[in-house]
Formats: sequence, C-alpha cells, structure tokens
Amino acid sequence: MSPSAAETGAAVRAGRRRARDVVEEHLAEIDAREADVHAYNLVLADVARAEADEIDRRVAAGEDPGPLAGVPVALKDNLCTRGIPTTCGSRILDGWKPPYDATVVGRLRDAGAVLIGKTNMDEFAMGSSTENSAFGPTRNPRDPTKVPGGSSGGSAAAVAARMTGVALGSDTGGSIRLPAALCGVVGVKPTYGRVSRYGLVAYASSLDQVGPLANSVGDAALVLDVIAGHDPADSTSIPEPSPGVSSALAEGVEGLRVGIVHELTWDADPDVVARVVAAGAALQGAGATVDEAHVPAAEYGLSAYYLIAPAEASSNLARYDGVRYGLRVDGADVNAMYHATRAAGFGPEVKLRIMLGTYALSAGYYDAYYGQAQRVRTLIIRDFEAAFSQFDVLLAPTCPSTAFPLGARTHDPMAMYLVDVCTIPANLAGIPAMSVPYGAGDDGMPVGVQVLGPALGERAMFRVAAALERSRP
Ligand code: GLN
Repeated sequence: MSPSAAETGAAVRAGRRRARDVVEEHLAEIDAREADVHAYNLVLADVARAEADEIDRRVAAGEDPGPLAGVPVALKDNLCTRGIPTTCGSRILDGWKPPYDATVVGRLRDAGAVLIGKTNMDEFAMGSSTENSAFGPTRNPRDPTKVPGGSSGGSAAAVAARMTGVALGSDTGGSIRLPAALCGVVGVKPTYGRVSRYGLVAYASSLDQVGPLANSVGDAALVLDVIAGHDPADSTSIPEPSPGVSSALAEGVEGLRVGIVHELTWDADPDVVARVVAAGAALQGAGATVDEAHVPAAEYGLSAYYLIAPAEASSNLARYDGVRYGLRVDGADVNAMYHATRAAGFGPEVKLRIMLGTYALSAGYYDAYYGQAQRVRTLIIRDFEAAFSQFDVLLAPTCPSTAFPLGARTHDPMAMYLVDVCTIPANLAGIPAMSVPYGAGDDGMPVGVQVLGPALGERAMFRVAAALERSRP
C-alpha cells in the first residue's frame, strides 16, 4: 500500500523522506499512466521539483514546512495559479496566465504542499464525464474504456492512479463527488462559504465550492483543514473559524442518527442501492441508529439546477469577449470580434448553457423559469432543515450508476444531466456532502456512498465517512 498523504507529509516534515523523492515517484507514475488516462492539462515537473527541493532545504535548516510537507497536489484547471496557464478546459482562455493565486493555492503552499499539475475538466465545469474538455476526455484509471465522471475528472483520475498525492476540484452540482465515486476515491463538497472561492473561475457563483479529492478520508480531512476558513477576499466566505474535521475522525458514530434519503436512493441502479443499504447496516453495527429520511422537494432539484446554474453561468461567462482574457478572433468591428471570439472559443455545451441561461432570465420568462427555480430551491432548503431536525447525517448514493463507457451519453444531454440527480440537492441547499468509496457494482467498478451533513456539519459528516471507511467491504 502506498503511504497516505498524511504519512508522506509527516515523514518529510521529520526528515525521514525527501520531498524530492516523493515528487520523482509521482512523476514516474505520470510517465507510466498519463498517456492512457489524460488526467492533466499541464504537468509542472520543474515547478514540482523546485518546490520539493525548497521543502527539503527548509527541513534541513530546521524549519517546519507544515503538515503537507512534500505532498504533491494537483489542481483542477479552473483554480488560478499565478503565471501558470489556467484553461478551464476551454479554448477561450488560450494564452491566459492569471496574475494571482487562488486563496486555496496559497494555503496549500503554506502547508508545504508541492504543485504537480493542472487537471483536465469539462469546459468551465459544465459536464458530468470530463468529455466536454476542449483538450480531449480523461479516462477512468480503473477501466480506460469508461468515463471518470466530471467535471473534476482529471483530479479524481490523478488521485486514483496515484499520479498525485491529493487534488482539489470544484463542485457546483456534484463535480467533486461524482468523479470521486466513479474513480473510487474520496471527494468532499464543503458547506457553501467554508472554503474561499477567491481565484476559482466562476461557473454558478451561488453553488460553486472548492474541495479535496484524496485516497482516504483522513487525507481529505487534512486537506480540508488546510484550505477551510475565512477569507476576506471572498464576500461569501463564512466569518467563523472552521472547527477542523481531522480531530473528529476517531470519534466513532455511537448514538448518531443516520437517515437514508428515500427520494435520492430508490431510483438508483439496484447494485448501487445495495451498497448504500450495506453502508447503513455497517453504521448501525457501529452504534448509529439508521432510519428512512425524506427530502420530498429533492425530486425537483435537477430541474431547478438546470435553470439556476445556466442563468448564473450566462452572466459569469459574459466576460469572455476577446477583450480582457485569452483568445481574440478579429472581426470588422467590435461586435464581429465578440462573435468570432465566442464562436471559436466556446465548445457546444458551454454555448448551450449560455443560451439556456439567457433565455431563462429574459423578460417575460424570468418569473416562470428562474423565479420558479428559486422557489424550488427554498423548498429544498426547508426539506433538508426538517430532515436534519430528525437526523444528524443523511446517506444516499453519489451517482445512480457506476462509470459508463466513453461516448455513451454525449449525444443525449438529458441522460448526461441525470447523472447529477443525487448530488445537486446539496449544492442547492448549501450543505456539506462527500462521497466515500464503498465496494463495487455488478461490473466491478467503484460505488460511492454519499454522506450529507447539515450546514456547518462537516464534523458529523466526517465521523460517518471515517466509520464507513473502517467498515469498507
Ligand atoms: N454536471 C453538472 C453540470 O454540468 C455539475 C457540474 C459541476 O458541479 N461543476 O452543471
């Protein structure tokens, strides 16, 4: 078994391992696997080597680089990295290099982590399979004929294939949890506002959250503890200090009330449902009480999401007009230039979402579409509040199925959108949710069980996740 990121960080910090050796091992894994998997848009071998050497120098000088000392971290390519291309999986940002680092990038560096690369993603995080990248799809390292899930598919695949120690993704409707589930790793969407969005390229700002992907619950906890906490640069950042989750892992689940969400569970494939039921039984065995929970409005989550997210995206993506960022295709006048730039720079799914969002916000339709979707969002928030008055945490599948073959859903947007049906409600409600690998489906591919907590309830969520990991089949 490869060492965990926490073990690697501890060993480098104590001078028992060299950060440079850790980086070389991961670069060797990239050499061996990347041609098949395509997890990365950019491998930063020289940056990683230089950062690792600096960590080793500091350890030798008696300094403490932090808990992630020498741990390679891969960043989804919508997280800004100063002077390093940040593409969002799109041609429209061709040549753009951010002038600043995202807050989370600075926090990882301050904890000793080493930046190893930028990972592939669906263009502007719009997608569920990483097939919407302008740079070609990522493949599932457990079976390269299958998708890794999306939109943080590169981050999940890089973690699963051990081409990095840990990774960050972003989750607007499931984009961390879904690829984590399909690749068999842990993925966490924190409470909205828990982690700074400063330097995360916006998709749908009221839903976007940054979070970790890792090979264990402990590693995900460690990374979350490093990146969480108030950031004055993000006006939606939660002002209270983050209590930390690593210290909750050993607390066990004795006495916790766990609810299995009826509306999100029973339409999933039977082999997936079986894993969720088994997870409930394991928690019961560990001292929790397990019962059925109801979140009735969650049934309308998908419809509401596919109005709210495109509406916000249509506004956020208006800035890519060939003037300030990346690609510019010249035209006879400024309007022709906008038109040519966007026609060449955006892929088909992004164009579809911008049109959908613009339509949903247009005069005469605003109330019937966007307004109605916001009302549904309120109902979902209320239903979760009611459920959390009876339960400490909720369980559901992360995805209704295991990983599907590449190309299987690319020609049917509705079939692709349905992949998010179990993850979207947590984004609409702003609550934390994470995916924990829990055995395999009938096809031998990983199944993820989703653990949902009330707003700011990350500690209870991680206690349950840790118990599931301990009882893993
Ligand atoms: N698949 C969903 C979408 O395409 C969610 C993506 C995400 O969380 N970024 O919008």
